[in-house]
Amino acid sequence: MIELHPFKPPAPHDVVAYRDLLGGEFWRRVPAYADVDETQFLDHLWQQRHSVKTPEELLATVRELASPEFIADAELGFRRAPMAVRVSPYAIALVDWNDPYRDPIRRQFIPVASALLPNHPRLTLDSLHEQADSPVPGLVHRYVDKALFLPLNVCPVYCRFCTRSYAIGPDTQNVDKVELAKTPSQWQDVFAYIASRPELEDVVISGGDAYQLPPKNLELIGNALLDIPHVRRMRFATKGPAVMPMKLLTDHAWVDALTRIVDRGRSAGKDVVLHTHFNAPEEITEITQRAMRVLFERGIFVRNQSVLIRGVNDEPERMQRLVKRLGYVNVHPYYVYMHDMVKGVEDLRTTIRAAIGVEKFVRGSTAGFNTPTFVCDAPGGGGKRDVHSYEHYDRENGIAVYAAPSVKPGRAFVYFDPIDQLEPAARERWQNETVAQEMVHEALRRAGTGDDSFVVA
Ligand SMILES: *Cc1c(COP(=O)(O)O)cnc(C)c1O
Ligand code: SF4
Repeated sequence: MIELHPFKPPAPHDVVAYRDLLGGEFWRRVPAYADVDETQFLDHLWQQRHSVKTPEELLATVRELASPEFIADAELGFRRAPMAVRVSPYAIALVDWNDPYRDPIRRQFIPVASALLPNHPRLTLDSLHEQADSPVPGLVHRYVDKALFLPLNVCPVYCRFCTRSYAIGPDTQNVDKVELAKTPSQWQDVFAYIASRPELEDVVISGGDAYQLPPKNLELIGNALLDIPHVRRMRFATKGPAVMPMKLLTDHAWVDALTRIVDRGRSAGKDVVLHTHFNAPEEITEITQRAMRVLFERGIFVRNQSVLIRGVNDEPERMQRLVKRLGYVNVHPYYVYMHDMVKGVEDLRTTIRAAIGVEKFVRGSTAGFNTPTFVCDAPGGGGKRDVHSYEHYDRENGIAVYAAPSVKPGRAFVYFDPIDQLEPAARERWQNETVAQEMVHEALRRAGTGDDSFVVA
């Protein structure tokens, strides 16, 4: 006999509040867009043309909404940042300009000087050592059976926390960018390399951002890779749906090109999907829902990779809302990354401890296949590790040691928590380089990995 419990009470309304998506002409709140109608706002070319790239353009767009102090702060922030700035009107319209300092969209794209923190002494620009695993320009071959192709260095927006700040976007006052392979003739070397490595089954096309590829180049890449017999899986990576979802509604040539590659892959028994990058629940609106519906109806599978970012999604409830909202619009949450140890954005990083807490809260709130894995892309080229799988974690000093036996056997990789999140005594210890080195070596000893195998980020 099955015992029935018919009185499980219905869930209170706020349990399904993630389904309440922002709709209507919300952009008209921004003075510069007050006269923009829906047709214009949904036009992807209009979005591209009106993206904000300088403090002057920001001022012209949000004048009357943001205080002069905020604008001055942003102006200084633009000058100190390692990434160029580019923000779409869609993203600008989602910012709560009554409180831009705390706003999760603003924090991702618009730097303000007053929030900057000193860099952790172990930070670098290319913390993942991608350049060391690059056999030809524009390709990173780190894992045995998969490779990362970087066919361009432009994106529809620039994220302050970009892991590829060494290469992505125009040069800034602080960083001269590394050259990637950016033209179809340069891509031939990448295709030739992939064709010469039969162990490669899986290619991630990232960048930069596939949104910025003209449809004919998107298709050229897709077809060239589908032509290689051993390539079985491809993912086009784009931040686009999170910051400019309307492109999927109005750039028919691009969506059709993607659809043709997916269809050709399907008939060849090969898996072609889209990977995207939503970080905040506010990025998902009714426009996003319509855009994701277009892909869903065409049978294009979409996965999401988020970055755990302080003040954006590091509160358990906010991450839970993001995950459930993604599932609601047919996007599968795949990964949540620890923020990479890149320079200039220490205010955005969180601790391994915090990530574990958020993961614990999220798991169990929805389908397992819609529950992201929380990973730390091990600094120094160890690849992605489940955040929980450290060999040793010194929580007090914020030092986590990982091993990656099938990527770089015999080596140890260390992730450092942001110093301002540690207790005062630990912060003090980090001020002294000799003490700091001893702490790191002690963590490595406890992890049972030899000191000399340590990869210094
Ligand atoms: C993330 C990444 C991949 C893909 O890894 P998955 O865990 O399969 O998503 C491939 N190559 C590089 C260099 C990467 O950073
Ligand atoms: S969209 Fe991706 S590649 Fe482009 S700036 Fe953002 S994180 Fe970097």
